[in-house]
Amino acid sequence: MLIIMQPLADESSVNKVIEFIEKRGFAAHVSKGETHTVIGAVGNNVIDPRDIELLDGVSEVIKITTDYKLTSRTFKENDTVIEVNGVKFGGDNVGMIAGPCSVESYEQVEKTAQQLSEKNIKILRGGAFKPRTSPYAFQGLGEEGLKILRSVADNFGMAITSEIIDLSQINLFKKYVDIFQVGARNMYNYNLLKELGKIDKPILLKRGMSARIVELLLSAEYILSGGNRQVILCERGIRTFEKITRNTLDLSAIPVIKKLSHLPIIVDPSHGTGLRDKVAPMAKASVAAGCDGLIIEVHYDPDTALCDGAQSLTPKEFGYLYDDLNKIAPIVNKKIN
Ligand code: PEP
Ligand code: MN
Repeated sequence: MLIIMQPLADESSVNKVIEFIEKRGFAAHVSKGETHTVIGAVGNNVIDPRDIELLDGVSEVIKITTDYKLTSRTFKENDTVIEVNGVKFGGDNVGMIAGPCSVESYEQVEKTAQQLSEKNIKILRGGAFKPRTSPYAFQGLGEEGLKILRSVADNFGMAITSEIIDLSQINLFKKYVDIFQVGARNMYNYNLLKELGKIDKPILLKRGMSARIVELLLSAEYILSGGNRQVILCERGIRTFEKITRNTLDLSAIPVIKKLSHLPIIVDPSHGTGLRDKVAPMAKASVAAGCDGLIIEVHYDPDTALCDGAQSLTPKEFGYLYDDLNKIAPIVNKKIN
């Protein structure tokens, strides 16, 4: 932390600031310029910078260290690569996840999974517990949905990811899923994140719809600091003033996160745009921007989908997209898997 004193701040206020930070476990390094005195506070304790800003003679406090330590590139220089069912996320890999928004029936998942496996997709998505904005909308099939997803996936040699919406579901999910998905609405559910830090399966952590990138990294830090180092971050669009698309897909989050963190960052262009015809262009742009994976909603018959049909691709559309992605990836030294 750098504490910049007001021009010509007197000796006694400088000393009071030094005393204040030393009492809280920081070492003070003072540098006196012609007009400004700057105090470097070095230490690992957590301190609210505003408490220092309120002291006499202080002009500004600049934090130079981050609270997302284990998540940061400073802590780990090389990309973390997470592998599930032979599919890698991170490094020079773009891992693919596809499937319906929600599990509706055995037939629906089976028909979709069959066509996806023809395109070599090895991780199937599908919500069993749906966090819907309206309490009257389809809420998912619950455990029955997880059973369907597991059973279909096993038949096709696929792994699965599904969204956990509550702490009480951890043991249930352990029985069925390979990747625990934490949705945008739960990115701030710190009790859930802490518990997910204790399990030994990968976590797909989505960015909250109004979350800053640093907040996403801090949520990941909750999981990593609990001992689970397998976190896949996901950009899924944020809420802005724009209404044409469901969310504004923040693709700049890819290079920003890749610089700040070693964790893989994947993109969900389905929720990111909310419109089927916008999914392929944004998926391609994501790969071009260096994402480490994609999660895409695909339904064998989107017009009949109980949830998010408007943003779901048909298997045929997905197939064309998959072929295009395979052409784009090598240009940015990545491979689709
Ligand atoms: C989903 O993946 O189906 C979902 C609900 O996504 P999000 O949490 O990003 O809204
Ligand atoms: Mn959805």
